[in-house]
Amino acid sequence: MEVMESISIFLGFAAGAVTGSFINAAAMRTVAEKKWWGNERSVCDKCGRQLSSFDLIPIISYLVLQGRCRTCRSFIPPRHFIAELAGGIIGALSVWYWGIEYPLIFSFIALFFMLFHSLTDIESGYIYDSWALAMAAVSFLARLPGGLPALIDGAMGAALGFAFIYAIVFVSRGGMGMGDAMMMVGVGALMGWKLTVLSLYLGFMTSGVIVIPLLIAKKINRKDAVALGPYLAAGCILAIFTGRYIFGYLGFSLGWPWSNI
Ligand SMILES: [Zn+2]
Repeated sequence: MEVMESISIFLGFAAGAVTGSFINAAAMRTVAEKKWWGNERSVCDKCGRQLSSFDLIPIISYLVLQGRCRTCRSFIPPRHFIAELAGGIIGALSVWYWGIEYPLIFSFIALFFMLFHSLTDIESGYIYDSWALAMAAVSFLARLPGGLPALIDGAMGAALGFAFIYAIVFVSRGGMGMGDAMMMVGVGALMGWKLTVLSLYLGFMTSGVIVIPLLIAKKINRKDAVALGPYLAAGCILAIFTGRYIFGYLGFSLGWPWSNI
């Protein structure tokens, strides 16, 4: 591997980890209905100590402190670390897979919003409409350089993603909620219609692979509410990295920006 490539993959990891750290804070503040855009410093949940800049270095500070607050030694929820690590891995994979090309922007938009929706869904059971619509808006902006066909592809993806989940909500009366349908508006706008189909397929496959064994092992009950946002998010991320192969194999072009490198 060339040195430049290694450096850019490392930078992708660092950018992803910082993004993950920021999103974790934003998601938790959103769930707690606190404002998160101010310059208010993060504090330890237990003792209220203000975190120093060192405490905020993603991944490294968690490892150095062995997952504990420096003052009161209480455990820091591993969610912080997991969000940073997931962000780092997706960031590094994105740079490795796309190189410094336009789809990299799409990859990072997905990373940003999929992590956010997963965290709020796990923490509170909510996917926030405002964030779902923000993803759609950002996605259409990112599609502008692709011209009208790219915008139409995004609109078709958004409509398809919404309609598919809405139909399930309507038929199943529970299990999935309108939050999931709204989430797919953003995913569809970003991915375009072909990758939206693949996202849904991979999302449901992932949920089946994880949820069905848990049901069999009786770790969860059929009636337990399962947060499906994280599975839809996993489907979206997986679709980004497998779409070219799968649709290439089927003889379809994915359209701008996915096919243009
Ligand atoms: Zn503390």
